[in-house]
Amino acid sequence: MDFAISEKMQELLGRIRDFVETELYPLEPEFLLQGFQVLQPVLEEKRAKVRALGLALPQIEQEYGGLGLSVLEHGLVSAELGKSPVGHYSFNCQAPDAGNMEILIKHGTSEQQEAYLKPLLAGKIRSCFSMTEPDHPGANPTWMGTTAIKDGEDYVITGRKWFSTGGDGAAFAIVMAVTNPDAPPHLRASQIIVPADTPGFIVERDTPCMGQVGGGWASHSEITYDHCRVPQSNRLGSEGAGFLIAQERLGPGRIHHCMRWIGICERAFDLMCRYAVEREVAPGYPLGSRQFVQGWIAESRAEINAARLMVLHAAWCIDHVGQKEARDEVSLIKFSVANVMMKVLDRAIQMHGGLGITDYTPLALFYRNERAGRIYDGPDEVHKIAVAKRMLRRYAEERQEVR
Ligand SMILES: Cc1cc2nc3c(=O)[nH]c(=O)nc-3n(C[C@H](O)[C@H](O)[C@H](O)COP(=O)(O)OP(=O)(O)OC[C@H]3O[C@@H](n4cnc5c(N)ncnc54)[C@H](O)[C@@H]3O)c2cc1C
Repeated sequence: MDFAISEKMQELLGRIRDFVETELYPLEPEFLLQGFQVLQPVLEEKRAKVRALGLALPQIEQEYGGLGLSVLEHGLVSAELGKSPVGHYSFNCQAPDAGNMEILIKHGTSEQQEAYLKPLLAGKIRSCFSMTEPDHPGANPTWMGTTAIKDGEDYVITGRKWFSTGGDGAAFAIVMAVTNPDAPPHLRASQIIVPADTPGFIVERDTPCMGQVGGGWASHSEITYDHCRVPQSNRLGSEGAGFLIAQERLGPGRIHHCMRWIGICERAFDLMCRYAVEREVAPGYPLGSRQFVQGWIAESRAEINAARLMVLHAAWCIDHVGQKEARDEVSLIKFSVANVMMKVLDRAIQMHGGLGITDYTPLALFYRNERAGRIYDGPDEVHKIAVAKRMLRRYAEERQEVR
């Protein structure tokens, strides 16, 4: 296993780091106080610049206009972009659009790619992924209430979803709906494209989260599908393949989230160290002269380094042995890195005192927004249970063989 970063990647990462620091950090004060929508026109200018520099869509294959990076390489890019809350958006590799692009590339028909993928890649539209429901447990997605019933050439979709990130202003949703209720649980649902102008597609509200209602891409929408009629040709992949497709999307998606969180950790660490040498607790005595603070810095560095290596290893496993074989590694990073991030952010906020609670640094925004990392894409507990069960099963089988 060799995690040495090639010269080509080092050069690319340097250019991206430079863009994030010089073009995006200066936008943060306004973003933190006014929110995504006020800043959107400026962000669109930044996106155009990123495109002109040939840096957009790092996660997408070259034939579709992206940089064609491997999972590991895009992980490294994600860690640079994660340092700013608007990093991924500026490079058009933000959730949930990035995942939707991947699904459309792998499973979209040429008509679907023309209508939905092309404008998404060009940054002309946004999309959302609509799986979780208020009335059913998202942690057990095989049990859902939304149905897609065949009627002639169409599906009629009925149900209620929430936490469809970016639903406010999205041009279309990829909706998970039960099409085969009598099939085994993992073969009951399909993914279906529903354009936002379909009659019966109703964005009820942006769910307020951690004191923020959000808006635009930075929204988590509650959406009613009230007898939405779409052609059956809007289905992605075969009927009942919704979960298999979702799993394909989630493996690399979790690497990207985890590396984004490493980027957040690095930013928090940087802010922490800068403040430690700048802020004096008594004349001539900076915070960093105090052993408590030194401890926080050493512990944070060790935890970030360990987390980073775990994620790179999981990405390396996906690139070399495939997603299925890398399931344990992906589950392990999903819960452990999310918790390292919360610990590092908490220490950084504590070190900044009252300033850490304000929106004059990005720390409070990261803390509010990223707490959800322990819940979405599988809550901590579900990943821990899945990994432990698989490991124990192997021990039980070994014991059986010995007997
Ligand atoms: C910021 C944010 C963005 C999101 N974006 C999207 C999106 O774009 N599209 C989308 O479809 N969904 C999205 N989600 C939804 C997310 O995927 C779900 O919240 C998640 O799957 C958990 O489902 P739930 O909220 O229904 O919790 P539940 O399934 O009701 O679980 C509640 C809690 O119970 C515990 N738990 C659950 N099952 C078990 C178990 N087997 N053993 C032990 N404990 C258990 C866990 O602690 C869990 O947190 C988003 C969520 C958030 C917070």
